[in-house]
Amino acid sequence: MSQLKSFSDCQKDDLLVITGAGGFIAGALTRYFHERGFTRIRAVDKKPLPDWYQIVPGVESLCLDVSDETNCRRVCEGAVEVYNLAADMGGMGFIERFRIQCLRSILINTHMIEAAYRAGARRFFFSSSACAYNTDLQKDPQCRALRETDAFPAMAERGYGWEKLMSEMFCQEYWAERGMKTAIARFHNVYGPHGTWDGGREKAPAAICRKVIEAKDKGTDCIDIWGDGNQTRSFMYIDDCTEGIDRIMHCDELIATPINLGSSELIAINHLVTIAEEIGGVKLRRTHDLNAPKGVAGRNSDNTMIKRVLGWEPTTPFRTGLAKTYAWIAEQYEDRKAGRRTVHDTI
Ligand code: NAD
Repeated sequence: MSQLKSFSDCQKDDLLVITGAGGFIAGALTRYFHERGFTRIRAVDKKPLPDWYQIVPGVESLCLDVSDETNCRRVCEGAVEVYNLAADMGGMGFIERFRIQCLRSILINTHMIEAAYRAGARRFFFSSSACAYNTDLQKDPQCRALRETDAFPAMAERGYGWEKLMSEMFCQEYWAERGMKTAIARFHNVYGPHGTWDGGREKAPAAICRKVIEAKDKGTDCIDIWGDGNQTRSFMYIDDCTEGIDRIMHCDELIATPINLGSSELIAINHLVTIAEEIGGVKLRRTHDLNAPKGVAGRNSDNTMIKRVLGWEPTTPFRTGLAKTYAWIAEQYEDRKAGRRTVHDTI
């Protein structure tokens, strides 16, 4: 078996349950633990198996809807650790338009945490989001980075952000009242290969890569950018995200304590476009759609706490991660053009 390091105190044959595994991050997390020698992983998603981004050989892969209580009990049976990443979500285009769908993820988190508790799981991981932070603090592209305490007083992103905040509270109370160890990471924009790149749920890095690839392919010479492009974000490469999940889940100082998991490299969307153009070897004419969804003006991750507690933070430079992402999307694009099967979400 592989020598790759994990921070887990589990036996290699303890059962790990990972929901949302047909999607981007949980798919990568399944592979991460498999590569570290864990032999019993149950990966779950409501998408039919052929639509999963990654199916890891040797992993029990189940197509089940975990907003249903009975399914959650089945999914958590025998679990030692549960990683709950299933959620109805997408980029700004999705979460601004479909708030009810985002709010309904509360069913997933409510049933999954209860089922994990009843199954006697030792630890439960919840993937929260920077969208849980007070939006009043994010009105300027150069606003200061968000600290963990900035979620309260609460004024989260409507729909998606409020659902995350409420589910965080579930995690805190299952520890306080019932003694189940829970871990809560607030992800800041995750990107990388094997994620949504088309169809309406994709996020900015994948969308921009696709638009550059498309412009090159069709010779249109121009790119449409949502908003004025001055919005800023930080973007975390997927490998940093999976390692961060492992570290946070297995740190007792962080039980039931929300923590930022994100890069602190602040990037304006216009600069993201420049980097994608450089990777693609083109220079495009830019148009700005000021009516398109654009989210908050600025958002960055304050990594003081993660560095203090874990002595670690995500470090993959954005340009390095984007080059890998671009290459994967270009491959997908070519496959689709050639009539070969690709996997991408549609709303
Ligand atoms: P994703 O959409 O690629 O994956 C989520 C998966 O959950 C999908 O495959 C979907 O089919 C599945 N799912 C949805 N409802 C389900 C249900 N009822 N039963 C079973 N499966 C269901 O998204 P992702 O980017 O991999 O995000 C994973 C988690 O991380 C989510 O909780 C998301 O809110 C959180 N998050 C992601 C980001 C990011 O930048 N990608 C940022 C902050 C938080």
